[in-house]
Amino acid sequence: MSRAQEFRTGDTPLPDIVILTHKLSRDYDMGSEVVRALRGVDLQIRRNEYVAVMGPSGSGKSTLMNLIGCLDTPTQGEYWLNGQKVSDLADDDLARIRNKEIGFVFQTFNLLPRTTALENVELPLLYSAALPRDRQARARAKLAAVGLSEREHHHPAQLSGGQQQRVAIARALINDPVLILADEPTGALDSRTSVEIMALFQDLNREGITVVVVTHEPDIARYAGRVLTFRDGHLTRDDAVGERLVARELLASLPSGEVSDEEDVESPVSPT
Ligand code: ADP
Ligand code: MG
Repeated sequence: MSRAQEFRTGDTPLPDIVILTHKLSRDYDMGSEVVRALRGVDLQIRRNEYVAVMGPSGSGKSTLMNLIGCLDTPTQGEYWLNGQKVSDLADDDLARIRNKEIGFVFQTFNLLPRTTALENVELPLLYSAALPRDRQARARAKLAAVGLSEREHHHPAQLSGGQQQRVAIARALINDPVLILADEPTGALDSRTSVEIMALFQDLNREGITVVVVTHEPDIARYAGRVLTFRDGHLTRDDAVGERLVARELLASLPSGEVSDEEDVESPVSPT
């Protein structure tokens, strides 16, 4: 995989670069000491790449995701998202760009418990100008895209873990982001369900969405095309995945057994 341009301060990223960081650093000032969580990271991710981020606990993975996700601002360095320099934007502008460009997926799904699947997916649109009818139509379409049309009116507790994560993915897609950021998205799922989630990510990636996934599982990293390894706040390795796994192929070869989603879908559950 070719590694794009040599970037210098004052340059602009090439057009197909969705993420560019230049000497990106994040210090946490703890009073008596400063924790240097990221120490000058240079990284470029092209449109339509699928990248896994690995590294031991405390190596700076979540700090990087927070910066890339426009949830935090760097202490030093530049961050360009989809052609726009966001590292020195104010909070309001950051929030606007975050809502428009990025979909987030978390280990623990982060769904609202007393709210239906459909309403959970609609949630990011509540602050938009969209009309209620249009909001619902869009949320329906996204739930259908993750195979959950039948579960619109279920609450999270009435869904399996894999189904909850699919609702969360539908929610992440509601504003048609260029980028999906996922921090340990399969950390709470059994192995078959994990492959189902990887299949969805690979589908989305094939449709043109850039995907960045933090994982500590080497198997999950092999669905990506590229693996970044962090250590002590440095990007220490940047490897192409040799034999990339294709989740749909794997699913076809797996017995559908276990307590998986597929079984669950057959059994009618009435929402209460
Ligand atoms: P990882 O996700 O790879 O486990 P993190 O990015 O969470 O690593 O943390 C990197 C370093 O920064 C660790 O030493 C961690 O303790 C520290 N750190 C992370 N977040 C904060 C914070 N909000 N305040 C202070 N230190 C933090
Ligand atoms: Mg972390």
